[in-house]
Amino acid sequence: MGIRVYRRSSDGGWRRADGVPHLIMRRVVVIGGGLAGLTAALRLAPDTDVVVLDAQPRLGGQILTEWQDPLTVERGAEGFVFRSEAVPRLAAEVGLHADLIGQSVVQSYGFDGDRLRVLGPGEAAAFLGFQVPRGDLGKGIRSFRQGMGSLVRALETHLHGRADVRTDTTATSVEIQERGVRVIAGNDAFEAHGVVVATQARDAARLLASVTPRAAILATAPTLSSVAVELAFPRDAVDHPLDGTGFVVAESAQREGLRACTFTSAKFIARCPPSLALLRLFFRPEPFELSGPQALDDATWCRRAVDGLGRVLRLTGAPSGSWVSRWPAALPQFSDSYRSAVANVEAALEGKPIALAGAAFHGSGIDAAVRSGERAARRLAQPPAAS
Ligand SMILES: Cc1cc2nc3c(=O)[nH]c(=O)nc-3n(C[C@H](O)[C@H](O)[C@H](O)COP(=O)(O)OP(=O)(O)OC[C@H]3O[C@@H](n4cnc5c(N)ncnc54)[C@H](O)[C@@H]3O)c2cc1C
Repeated sequence: MGIRVYRRSSDGGWRRADGVPHLIMRRVVVIGGGLAGLTAALRLAPDTDVVVLDAQPRLGGQILTEWQDPLTVERGAEGFVFRSEAVPRLAAEVGLHADLIGQSVVQSYGFDGDRLRVLGPGEAAAFLGFQVPRGDLGKGIRSFRQGMGSLVRALETHLHGRADVRTDTTATSVEIQERGVRVIAGNDAFEAHGVVVATQARDAARLLASVTPRAAILATAPTLSSVAVELAFPRDAVDHPLDGTGFVVAESAQREGLRACTFTSAKFIARCPPSLALLRLFFRPEPFELSGPQALDDATWCRRAVDGLGRVLRLTGAPSGSWVSRWPAALPQFSDSYRSAVANVEAALEGKPIALAGAAFHGSGIDAAVRSGERAARRLAQPPAAS
């Protein structure tokens, strides 16, 4: 089957076209509809034709909120660093400023295998594998009353009619053309003046293989995997005041990969009625526990979560709900050598209408993803060079 080529038509829609490319309006393809890609799309949309492609059936990437009345369950990111200016600014633009919330409690506990003890500011952060700048330690995070998914939903609403957003669409390569780029997605090809690659690093390595051989290094980007299990209990089945953000488990006391627990219902009280306790347990899985013949099923992760919790808190009843979320190789780890690998790839993209965006390249976390998306949009907003 031949490749279908899409170009913007004069009425603003994308139309199939054959023949020599003749680009009239400025357009950019954004690959990846996580927070970085959506932010870039929003920034570009007022005066650029934007098409967003995401491989998943939904937008948001590592932000995924489930609303199961009366509960708000975060399956990915639960908030963003307190000092962030970029996220509240973006929230205000999409009408969410009044929904910003802070943590209801700040103190955290540590479990040493024997008992819980209150930790000093910042002691808990490193356990979760998120690299937190020194100045942010101990300040807690902010979020949205109805969860991080409300930011994705608001962005989606704002992009409606301003950008062509396509889910279930996996981009397979980016090609440099005489007057811009061509993005291949299955049997479709999108011609544009520029492209934002807002994916994980390993996806970017594949997408940019024909643009620069230096991109291959991105396939070896260091990452960590995570499994998060959220459990809902009747409040009286958990014999603890839940008067903190949660606990981290000392390395010597970790069993079956359990590293930390967030007392979600205490940290963000709007997420759960007082009759229930929402507790979120974080595991660092072995690769074979996530895929292959020995991969663990949801029931096993839930059993591990309940057992692990039972070592730390006294439970007098079973959970009434559970949500298991697997995030293979999702959390980038920024070493000096990885930072210089990204810089090296970006140097090779200099002068080309291609920008990398996202937490995979410019610092992990929600705030970094937004700032990176904004930077990519600024870079591609320059008028095309006269030809
Ligand atoms: C369990 C968990 C908890 C977290 N908690 C926090 C937290 O509390 N605070 C915080 O600051 N950060 C947290 N993070 C990290 C934060 O969620 C991420 O850093 C951020 O959401 C990354 O956004 P992004 O847009 O850069 O990338 P992603 O969200 O990874 O988006 C990339 C997108 O690209 C798409 N894609 C990939 N390849 C292709 C392709 N070939 N074609 C089309 N689309 C493609 C993917 O489907 C995906 O939607 C957490 C992460 C996890 C996994």
